[in-house]
Order: sequence, then structure tokens, then C-alpha cells
Amino acid sequence: MDLGIRGRRALVCASSKGLGRGCAEALAAAGVDLVMNARGADALAAAASAIRDAHGVAVTEVAADITSETGRGAVLDAAGGVDILVTNAGGPPPGLWSDWERADFIRALDANMLTPIALMKALLPGMMARGWGRVVNITSQSVKAPIAQLGLSNTARAGLTGYVAGTSRQVAPQGVTINNLLPGIHATDRAVSLDAAAARAEGISTQQAAARRSAAIPARRYGTVEEFGATCAFLCSTHAGYIVGQNILLDGGAMNSTL
Ligand code: NAP
Repeated sequence: MDLGIRGRRALVCASSKGLGRGCAEALAAAGVDLVMNARGADALAAAASAIRDAHGVAVTEVAADITSETGRGAVLDAAGGVDILVTNAGGPPPGLWSDWERADFIRALDANMLTPIALMKALLPGMMARGWGRVVNITSQSVKAPIAQLGLSNTARAGLTGYVAGTSRQVAPQGVTINNLLPGIHATDRAVSLDAAAARAEGISTQQAAARRSAAIPARRYGTVEEFGATCAFLCSTHAGYIVGQNILLDGGAMNSTL
């Protein structure tokens, strides 16, 4: 399917690996020029070069921490007036409700709520003035079904979800859509490190830990970054112009609910 976005420009944050990389790759395959970002310069350069070679699009790389004001400034300078914004960053650490102090919440809110809000605030006016834009925020299944040990993530991402619910309705008249993508378990470095931690804690192999987690998912497997990226690219396409303020769960059926 032609996504109708060839020649558009996108900023994809936190995109040298994992879900962000999947989104960058799928947008590039649709002919979109990219600004890619991650903290580690080497992995970012390798990802950008692979995407340029595979898809022939222009790719600008900005090695910076997207959750810091300085890093965000550098990324926004390179992004200029992009048509598409995909927000993403690493998730907060796990723990127990009684461990978290105010400073822990502020860090999580900064990274996973206030950073995407700042990026939207900077880029939405240009999209609205041009009469077309797409924003996709990578959040988590934990917005719909809490993951108890990820309380900092549950909290920050719920705040972002509330912001998007209202803001998406305010910018839709100008042809700009904002939606959230909610990953369940996907086969990325993060999933491998969570499996390795479970394996260490329980004296089993990483493969056994992964098999146990897969068995609890109706699809009986982890999602792939390609599936995730393709869904992101569709939300950024011309065909998705009537999808506004939605929270789209990609979890292989893991969350058991009727609606
Ligand atoms: P990943 O495979 O570890 O990749 C993370 C990417 O983000 C890397 O390119 C990393 O590069 C970059 N990054 C991390 N922190 C950054 C920062 N502060 N500034 C700029 N770039 C940054 O992770 P993932 O699995 O794709 O997860 C992406 C997001 O989805 C996370 O917020 C995660 O909590 C959420 N999520 C993932 C899953 C899953 O199963 N994978 C499920 C639910 C939610 P550098 O380290 O070099 O910066």
C-alpha cells in the first residue's frame, strides 16, 4: 500500500535500536526523510547509514539525550519543521511503590511525560500552520493494564495519555493527528534484558524465561519491531487522517478485555 507520505520529513526519537528503529525503518521504506536520535553516537550512525543504504532517503543523526533540555534543543534545531513526530525514550526503572521518592517521580515525568509534551509543543504549531501533521507517541501497555513493578512508568505514561486525549482534539481541525502506540512485549534489547534479569533471579536460562513469558501471550510470541514500525507508519500515513486521540495496543492479545 502506498502510504502517501513520500517526501515528508519525520523526527523519530530514540531510534538507533528497538521500537524507535522499527518506526524509522518503516517510515523510510515509505519514502520519508528522517531525523534520527539516540544518546550513543556509534549505534546511531550505524542505524542511520543502514537506513540510507536500504531506502535512499535523507537521514540526519543527532546524538543527544532527548530527555534533557540541551539534548532536546539540538534535536529540535535539526528537525526544523518536520511533518511527522515519533516520540520515544527509555523507560523508568522497576521497583516497589514504597521505594519511590519525589525525585524519582520527577525523573520519570521528565523523561516519559514532559519530554514528549515539550516536543509536541515545539512542533505542533508548524504542522498546524501547514495544515498537515502526524504525531505518534510510543507509550506502553501499562497505560491500560498496570505493571505493578513499573509504577513510575504507569504514572508518567498515564499523564501523557491524558494530555494527548485533550490536545489531539484541539489540533485535529488543522489536519494534525496525535495517537499513542502501546507496546506489549516486543523482541528488543529491553525484552532480552528483562528476561535475563528474571533468569538470574530464578536460576533458569534466559530462553526459559522468554518461553514462559511467550506462553502467557495468546499469540504465543513476542511482537517484532517490523510489525510495530509498520503500524506506526500506517498511523503517519494519509489513510489514517481520521484516527484521532487513540491508544492502540500491540500486545498479541495479552490484555484480556472485551473493549
Ligand atoms: P531498546 O531496544 O532498549 O531501545 C531504546 C532506544 O532508545 C535505543 O536506540 C536507545 O539508544 C534510545 N534511547 C534510550 N534512552 C534515550 C534517551 N534518553 N535519549 C535518546 N535516546 C534514547 O528499547 P525498546 O524496547 O525499543 O523500548 C522503547 C520504549 O518502549 C521504552 O520506553 C520502553 O519502556 C517502551 N516499551 C517497550 C516494550 C518492549 O517490550 N520492548 C514494552 C512496553 C514498553 P541509546 O541508549 O544509545 O540512547
